[in-house]
Amino acid sequence: MSRRFLSIGECMVELSQAGDGLLRKGFAGDTFNTAWYARACLAADWSVDYFTALGDDAMSDEMLAFINTSGIGTGLIRRIKGRTPGLYMINLKNGERSFSYWRDSSAARSLAADPDRLREAVESAEVVYFSGITLAILPHEDAETLLAEVRRAKAAGKLVVFDPNIRPRLWSSYDVMHTTISEGARSSVLVMPSFDDEAAHFGDDSIEATIHRYRALGAVDIVVKNGADGVTLNFAGEQTFVPAEKVEKVVDTTSAGDSFNGAFLSRYLEAGDAPAAARFAAKVAARVVSEHGALVVKEKLGLDGG
Ligand code: ADP
Repeated sequence: MSRRFLSIGECMVELSQAGDGLLRKGFAGDTFNTAWYARACLAADWSVDYFTALGDDAMSDEMLAFINTSGIGTGLIRRIKGRTPGLYMINLKNGERSFSYWRDSSAARSLAADPDRLREAVESAEVVYFSGITLAILPHEDAETLLAEVRRAKAAGKLVVFDPNIRPRLWSSYDVMHTTISEGARSSVLVMPSFDDEAAHFGDDSIEATIHRYRALGAVDIVVKNGADGVTLNFAGEQTFVPAEKVEKVVDTTSAGDSFNGAFLSRYLEAGDAPAAARFAAKVAARVVSEHGALVVKEKLGLDGG
């Protein structure tokens, strides 16, 4: 039987500029992007499944088909009558990107509203991945349901992985954000934060401070990403630094962190060697920032010999 990697969160419809006022449609979202890169990098004896909720409209059907075609399992996804997926648009003005979101009533916000289904999904997996965005979009009670479920998974010895992915705009207050993200980390085995976000929103003055804070909460292992300045790993207290790859021309940093996480986990799950997994992930992320878009196809990731 194959082992299952389960990623939980929201995938959205993405609209980007295609010239002449035309828009191009795609699908993306932090936890989905990580599932995409995990799928690209994991051996075939792993299955990768996405857990979310979708509506029953044509756009939900199309997203489901897209996820499936990507080799990612959709069998656990909830469908909710009368609902639709969230949507965001990438605006380009003088070379600067900005984002507009329509996700307040997206179906994904109800992904944890059916606790039995959520439990069944989590129980079926060896590895469970979620993020601060997953927690931010849920009603308070449902975030508690999800946290209880991942705590159970952690207690059962599963690898629970959390990327805080801090987005203040999605939270009702700083207090709720701090408390819930800290609870996400406490409920996880491996936490994969980005130092920029942690410094800006938790006031960490060093990478050590970020590591110390998450370890004190109860996370066992931590990978702190720091863009072009590489990553610092702390696995059960042992610290290692792995530099980023040199990139000739950074084209688009969308999903740099998501791709790093997916690639890192694929190698870490196979061999348990965190520094080697980080070196591999730095190569994959370097390819991702050298191309346009969140989802770079496998053929362009240079996986041979990785
Ligand atoms: P996030 O997208 O979550 O903010 P980071 O910016 O820390 O995450 O990037 C994640 C990973 O992507 C880094 O650890 C690094 O491997 C790679 N990366 C990001 N930006 C660059 C860059 N300019 N040059 C080389 N690698 C990069």
